[in-house]
Amino acid sequence: MDWNEYAKHAKTVADWGADYHKTLRERPVRAQTKPGEIASQIPHSPPESPETIEEILADFETKIMPGITHWQHPNFFAYFPANASPPSALAEMIANTMAAQCMLWQTSPAATELEEVMVDWLRQALGLAEGYKGVIQDSASSATLSAVLTMRERATQWSGNREGLSGKGNLRIYCSDQVHSSIDRACWIAGIGQENLVKLPTSGSGFGLQTEQLKNAIADDRAAGHKPAGIIAVTGATGIGAWDDLESIADVAKEENLYTHLDAAWAGSAMICPELRDEFWQGVDTIDSIVFNPHKWLGVQFDCSVQFLKDPAAQLNTLKIEPEYLKTTGQSVTNFSEWTVPLGRRFRALKLWFVMRAYGMENLRTRIRNHITWAQELCGMITAMDGFEIVTEPILSLFSFRCPGDDAKQQQLVDAINDDGRIYLTQGLHQGRKVIRFQVGQFDTTRDDVLSAATVIEDIWKEIA
Ligand SMILES: *Cc1c(COP(=O)(O)O)cnc(C)c1O
Repeated sequence: MDWNEYAKHAKTVADWGADYHKTLRERPVRAQTKPGEIASQIPHSPPESPETIEEILADFETKIMPGITHWQHPNFFAYFPANASPPSALAEMIANTMAAQCMLWQTSPAATELEEVMVDWLRQALGLAEGYKGVIQDSASSATLSAVLTMRERATQWSGNREGLSGKGNLRIYCSDQVHSSIDRACWIAGIGQENLVKLPTSGSGFGLQTEQLKNAIADDRAAGHKPAGIIAVTGATGIGAWDDLESIADVAKEENLYTHLDAAWAGSAMICPELRDEFWQGVDTIDSIVFNPHKWLGVQFDCSVQFLKDPAAQLNTLKIEPEYLKTTGQSVTNFSEWTVPLGRRFRALKLWFVMRAYGMENLRTRIRNHITWAQELCGMITAMDGFEIVTEPILSLFSFRCPGDDAKQQQLVDAINDDGRIYLTQGLHQGRKVIRFQVGQFDTTRDDVLSAATVIEDIWKEIA
């Protein structure tokens, strides 16, 4: 295939993409295929002779598309959103076409310099203090791993990388019992170990960490000869949206000289609204490392996770390594690969630039505010359904509920709704009970889409009740 043919097929694919998005409402949200159904249609070995792109595209339509769950469907209310707005898709097409490896400044100065400016645009949009720097990572999991490694190195006086951890005692990290599994995995990989991740029970309407318990846990650990290394806070945890009071956590961290990381992977996007910062982000400027995913709620497609650092030196001291072949001579520049675990990096800043310019922050804020309002309205409608119970009230645009019956009945309702295909929901576990989660965040969803979910839930409930 040459680049003339490429241009022809690229136009076909662009038209296909627009049609796909315009007709999404006609498709079931969750793929309706059985395990193995797609694989059974694909030959078991690669072809020896070339095939035409026409043939490949035709097979894509008939064999692959039925097995796609439509994350960009306006009735996607499961997990968290993973939005890919049109300007983001365009920018990604350009970045993919150039396929620049943006690991060092000199391997594409524009990528590094645009990344620095985009991170600062976002810093301002989120109202974070001047002085925060940042880096774009592939996922929140990677940013959290970087922060946990930094906690480890800082607590071992920067000796862990060199000497390993043997004989250094138990490093301890504190968080609430609401945190995402990426925090557990970061502790596994960093050599800290699951048993040294201290998960504390939560309380209050935000299901946040309790300062007294945090202080007591740290004091007990010090008495037992353990080494407290850091605290991980959350704004908008995955289960039901739990959020910690950052001011009180920062006070403890300061007293105890602990490094702090904030996981705001989902909810961070909403902090472009000043009134939500007032509610959820008091004290945020005291946090050492903050991660949020524009690839969830901001319309910038996966992968795009921004990590802000109050002082990048700690993370650079942890991750920077400079073999001869990566040295940049004669210039004082940022080499972002020194800030992260992977060396190679894509040009991710481009899609942030396209999206923020194409919408303006004003429009992005309006979307988030609408989603929150519509989630509250729908929550009110479910409250009025006979025997239904709201388990957790909306935190931003996420709430959870139960239908009448036991845990098995909740799962039965979720499965029946997803088999029906008009909307897509997922279940969660809250305080030992199965709940049905509902989040509003898809970029093209309308008030009608959201409120119609009540009808679907009621219809399906009548069928299985
Ligand atoms: C989505 C999410 C994560 C994981 O994000 P990735 O970018 O997929 O690694 C972590 N924490 C929270 C609170 C999330 O919502």
